[in-house]
Order: sequence, then C-alpha cells, then structure tokens
Amino acid sequence: MVYKKAPKSPGDSPDSTANPDRHPDPQERERRYSGIGSSKGFAIGEAYEFVKETVEHEIAELNPENIDAEVERFMTALHRSEKELKKIERVTTRKIGKLYSDLFQAQIMLLRDPVLIDAITRRIRTELKPAHLVIEQEFEQYLGNFINSDDQIFRERAADLHDIKERIIRNLHIRKLHSWVPEGSVVVSHHLSPADIILLSRSNVKGFATDTGGKTSHVALICKSLNIPMVAGLGNFSQKIGSGSPVILDGNDGVVITRPEEKTVEEYRRKREAEIRREADDSVLAHRHAFTRCGMRITVCSNIDFREEITHLDATGSEGVGLFRTENLFLDDLKPPKEALQTEYYLSMAEMLTPKPLVIRLFDIGGDKLIYSPVKEPNPNLGWRGVRILIDVPEILDTQLRSLIRANVHGNVELMIPMISSIEEIEHIRQRLEHHYERVSEESRETLYKPGLGAMIEMPAAVELIDEITRMVDFVSIGTNDLTQYTLAVDRNNLIVQDLFEKFHPAIIRQLYRIISTAQKNRCRCAICGDMGSDPLATPFLIGCGLREFSLVSSDIPALKARVASYTIAECEALASECLKLSSAPAIKERLDVFLKEH
Ligand code: PEP
Ligand code: MG
Repeated sequence: MVYKKAPKSPGDSPDSTANPDRHPDPQERERRYSGIGSSKGFAIGEAYEFVKETVEHEIAELNPENIDAEVERFMTALHRSEKELKKIERVTTRKIGKLYSDLFQAQIMLLRDPVLIDAITRRIRTELKPAHLVIEQEFEQYLGNFINSDDQIFRERAADLHDIKERIIRNLHIRKLHSWVPEGSVVVSHHLSPADIILLSRSNVKGFATDTGGKTSHVALICKSLNIPMVAGLGNFSQKIGSGSPVILDGNDGVVITRPEEKTVEEYRRKREAEIRREADDSVLAHRHAFTRCGMRITVCSNIDFREEITHLDATGSEGVGLFRTENLFLDDLKPPKEALQTEYYLSMAEMLTPKPLVIRLFDIGGDKLIYSPVKEPNPNLGWRGVRILIDVPEILDTQLRSLIRANVHGNVELMIPMISSIEEIEHIRQRLEHHYERVSEESRETLYKPGLGAMIEMPAAVELIDEITRMVDFVSIGTNDLTQYTLAVDRNNLIVQDLFEKFHPAIIRQLYRIISTAQKNRCRCAICGDMGSDPLATPFLIGCGLREFSLVSSDIPALKARVASYTIAECEALASECLKLSSAPAIKERLDVFLKEH
C-alpha cells in the first residue's frame, strides 16, 4: 500500500456516479451523517479524501539467484520503516510530549524483533517466496485473531499491526510516504493510523472523519491531545464524499454535515466562537481550588491512562490522579508486566505527584478492555473480567500489589478494585494486601506506607451492598460507564443500542444518590470517575446528592471548576431532590437543562 493523493475534484473519482457528494448536484441539500464523537470541537472547511493506494505485486516465486537480493530488499524495507517511525516518534514527542510516542517505540521494537526477522528471511530462502508474500503470511498469523475479536480494543490493536505490515511492504517498493494534505482541510478517510494523524496534523488539519474507530482508540486519544476534533465510526462515509466538498464536523455530537446550508454554517461559527470564549474564561479559574458560590470546597482530580499525562496536570488545575487505568501496561506485550517494571512505573508516578494523591486501579482486563481470557467468551462484558481475573490468577494480583506497596514511599498511593460485585472479593484483595504489606515491608530498607483501599462502584450488585462496602473500604469511586452498561443491560461499545445507553435514566440517578448518601453516612470518601463526571448536566445533580470529589479527563477540569463556582449547595440539593422524583430520562434532562440555563 502506498499513500496516494486523493482526486482533486469529486468528478475525478472512478465511482463518482455512485453517490451525490462525490458527484455534487447543485440542488442537493445538506446531509447529516452520524458517527462517534471521538475528540471534541467543531471544524468548518473543505473535505480532503485521504486514500491509500494498493501496490501491485507481480512475482509469485523467486529465482534462486535472486534470493540474496530479496532478503536484502526486505532488510532495507525494515530500515526505511524504522527511519520513518523514528521521525514520527520525534514529531509526536514535540507535539504532545512523550505521551504517545511510546506507541511508535513499540512499533519500532516489533520491526527489530529477531524472531520475526528470522522467520521471514528463513522462509524467503527456503520457500523461494517474495518478501511481500512472506510478510503478509507471517503477520496474518497474528492479525487473524485480533481482527475477528469481539473486543474493540483488540481490533484497534490489530490496526496497529496492520499499519506496521503495510509500512514494511510499501518500503519494499521504495515508495515515499505521502502525508501532505491541503492546509486547513477536514480529512476524510476509511481508516487512519496514529502515525497518519501525527503526520497529517502538520498541515493544520481542522478535523478528522473516519469510517472505522471509536472513542477509546489511540487515534482518538491523540486527536484529543492535539485538540483536533474527530468523528469516527461513520460506516462508509468516506465513499460518499469527495475532496473539495464543504463540510462541518461536530466532534461533540459525533456528526458530519455535508454541503451545509448557510444558516447551519452560521450556527456552527457561533458555536465555535462561544467555545473559544468559554475556554479562555475557564482557564482563569482553573488554577484556583474549586468552591461553590456558597464556599463548599470541591476536589477535582484526573483520570489518566499513561504516566506521561502527569506532566500536563498542573496546566489544567488538577489536584491529583483519581483514576489511573493500569491496563495500558499490558499494551506492548500481552503478558503481565514484571514486578520491577511496575514498581519503577508506579514509583516514578508517585514521585512526580507527591504530595498529591495517586489512585491506581488494579488491572481491569477482560471485557471491553484487553482480552485476557484464553477462550473466546460469548459475552466478554459479562465474563472473566476485572477482579475475577485478579482472584483467579494470583501471579497478576500479587505482582501488582507488591509493586504498589513498594511505590508508596511518600504515602500518596491508594489502590482501587475494579468490577466489585461481592464483599468476598474485597475481603480477598484486602487479605492479599495485608499479606504482601508485611512481606514487602520486611524486605524493604525504606519505610513503606500501606496503600489505602478503595472499591469501584460500577455494578448494580455493588450498589445493593453499598452500606457494607462503604464500611469496609477507605473510599469508593463511581464508575458510571459500567454502572450504566450493567444497570440498563446496554453494551457500552455496541453502536446499535447506543441511544439506550442513558446515564440520566432514573434507575442510574437513584443509584447515584444511594451510593453518595450512604458513603456520606458511613464517613467513607466517595468520588466519581466515570465519564458522567465531565457532563455539565450532571454536575449540579451530583453535588446536590452530596458528592464533593470528581475525577475526570484533565482537559474537562477548567470547565467543571467554572460550573461549580456558579452553584450553591442549597440550589443543588433542591435540584437533586426534584430529579429523584422524576421517572423518565427526558424529564430529568429537561429539568437539569433548565437549571443549567438559569446559571
Ligand atoms: C467506569 O466504568 O465508569 C470507569 C471509570 O471505568 P472504565 O471506563 O475504565 O471501565
Ligand atoms: Mg469500569
């Protein structure tokens, strides 16, 4: 595959007659395409269709005298691919810090993998097959399982492997990577890799629209860091639009509008301007502690997925880490990370943050996260996941607990258990924590603090047991993403039922009140770390229920602090008690919306 410049005008496209946007009819009205808003913001501009060209391979078998040359060609392609990736890694480091450059480092490591290189060169020599065929077949072995997986995260990882393979094959043909697009375009593509995003962003791209992908892909995370709006999961949108078509991309609502009417363009211009003004106002408040209008202190921490994000916390006014998702430590290597590596990782985080808190969640693998199960589960979200794996595979739990204890030299580390559904699970983890604390303290020359123990409340069963749980642990944190999924029986990653994934459902609203008020009664700290913590509609309701601690994606912190400053506790309490009496999500949202408009 080689990157190819897209046809300049829609009429150049071979299948331009197949749809209206490729072959525009001047009478054609604006159209809206729905996808997933993967990175917030609005873009108004012209589409640029970014397509990847397929390379024709003619030779199916090598002459024996050409073998050495073919192996040499393969080695040169590896070398070129590594050079490209190093360049991309440097650009990534410069643009978004070291945050995501590790991803490309992992790809470079794969290019250098002696087992892979050996297997490919051996097969070229013994089977007389050309390099591209052997590379295809060797990668196939890995890729098949990944691509067919029901798990979104695994499918996204398959995309990374696919990108490396395509890169090597392209470099067999000495084709230069095409990464230029007209300045300020909205890039439309079937699929984009993290490397594509990094390189294309150098042309001041206004937005990205892709047929594939979702909210949690690396591509989405990189777009968020670069502050470029993105809509993913648009189906076959890229076949419906040609370069040059006017488009609006709405990363907040996950919508792309083609050939917008003048009044729509005007509406989005106003939205963009309002957003710019709001961001400027919010950043003034971000560096102060958050207080409600009546003076109640609200703590605001960050959810993070990578250690490098800590360097950005101060800029957003974050007061620490309320959720560190450790699953990414598995990413480069599907085996559990070793104790020394985990200790170094957590210790460096604790040191960077001290005296601010660092809440580390035990591995929440399985389900919609990384697959760990050796068998294909019919319904992974209801399967072997989170604390269930930790209990069944003691090596994973023990290694992580020991590392967490070793990292707690400053006393700012706490640990949190994912997917709790019973008291026994908490007891088990607590007993293992006590056991390892004694052992590790004996082994260590330093004074180590025992990490505080918290439980994620993200299953209805945990809500039912909230009285017992909040008397057992130091803190609880509400995971509204899974709580919504499990309460409403709506798979959080299934696009077909996304409109049923309603966090303002009265069943969720009432559970939130029950969790927060019970924790308060039992003097147990309570925070929210699910995405609902970022939702402006939810803020006054949660405060009204008694919540005083939020953990959310760092970029949303300034806006949350600004909102908090305009409410009083009494107003929020009155609002919460009104909402708790309502029995439908639209009615609850309507009431919350009115409150928001009044403040
Ligand atoms: C949640 O379920 O709300 C949560 C914060 O955890 P995750 O999104 O990682 O499952
Ligand atoms: Mg969860």
